[in-house]
Amino acid sequence: MDRFYTEDQKALRDTARRFAQAEILPRAATIDRDDRFDRSLYKGMADLGLFGICLREGAGGAVLDAVAACIAMEELARCSGAVANAFAIPVEAVLFFDQHGTETHKALIPQILSGEIIPATAVSEPDHGSDVAGIRTTAVRDGNGWLLDGTKAWVTLGGVADRIMVFARTGTEAGHRAISCLLVDGRLPGIARGKNEELLGMHGLEDCQITFAGVRLPADSLMGPENQAFKMAMSNFNFSRLMMASMALGMAQAAFEDATAYAKDRKQFGQPIIGFQAVQFMLADMAMKHVSNALQIHGGNGYSRDYRIERLFRDVRLAQIYEGTNQIQRLIIARQVEKEAA
Ligand SMILES: Cc1cc2nc3c(=O)[nH]c(=O)nc-3n(C[C@H](O)[C@H](O)[C@H](O)COP(=O)(O)OP(=O)(O)OC[C@H]3O[C@@H](n4cnc5c(N)ncnc54)[C@H](O)[C@@H]3O)c2cc1C
Repeated sequence: MDRFYTEDQKALRDTARRFAQAEILPRAATIDRDDRFDRSLYKGMADLGLFGICLREGAGGAVLDAVAACIAMEELARCSGAVANAFAIPVEAVLFFDQHGTETHKALIPQILSGEIIPATAVSEPDHGSDVAGIRTTAVRDGNGWLLDGTKAWVTLGGVADRIMVFARTGTEAGHRAISCLLVDGRLPGIARGKNEELLGMHGLEDCQITFAGVRLPADSLMGPENQAFKMAMSNFNFSRLMMASMALGMAQAAFEDATAYAKDRKQFGQPIIGFQAVQFMLADMAMKHVSNALQIHGGNGYSRDYRIERLFRDVRLAQIYEGTNQIQRLIIARQVEKEAA
């Protein structure tokens, strides 16, 4: 891959790889077992300047691009999907703040970059996931400000978030035309955070429901134009889906490395199992995909928490759901094909 990378991208990859190997990998199994957000690792990524990776210079960023963010994502995910997932949240948030925030919102960017303020995005609701246009949370004008009511589901970093970008219905029209984004201070009265969701994988992300009951917001809470946030969310997905794909790639890389090393080391019938054609076929297929095959190559050990592949297998499953399920992604691709063919 080296020949496809610029010098800046190579330097970034090496920095992210060193940090991931030295700091994340030794703690990844503990984060998975304890299911607690690791604030010091989050701060460590901030201190490396990773959160502003593709933010413009004038806003305090490193002026790299989406490719750079994907490279960093891949390196972090090789060591922990959950930590990589936590990295994606501020990277996307600062871009969103810079593009859609008021001056007050933009003033928070340095604190997000430094890891002092943890952001979260709350679009999904218990009854509306893929169907974003159907969300029911409402924000109505209240004197000088807004009154927010509703319940958001599956908020990544929701348990620790200081500022939450909440997507809410602000108009009377049905569907996507009446949705706005409001920035909510997580300390306001009327906000209740649910229990840490007990997930199959991706432990340590403090994923939870958040309920807003008559939360009073200041007048300048709106991010971007009123009733236009559906488009803003969809445009954000164009970037966040790349990040998610890079995360899955990083985990697939880790699975491939673990399976190859295990197959070289593990002996059955007097020889390393890498010598059996069936295992070779799986490794060959895996050079393209298949964390599941990597688990298979580990045999019974792959089903045990003593091996990293067990965690990779659970964590990577989220990539088929988060940021749009596989079915929704196919719909989007099919619509695009249809549009281009018209
Ligand atoms: C660990 C985790 C973290 C998350 N973090 C966040 C977050 O930070 N912020 C946030 O807002 N959300 C977050 N989400 C929510 C995530 O975006 C949704 O789970 C996802 O969009 C799917 O929505 P759903 O779970 O309601 O499933 P549903 O939309 O109910 O889908 C159920 C099934 O129906 C299928 N389906 C639905 N509609 C169609 C259709 N039109 N055509 C074909 N098939 C269809 C789906 O593909 C799926 O197989 C997170 C979810 C998880 C699990």
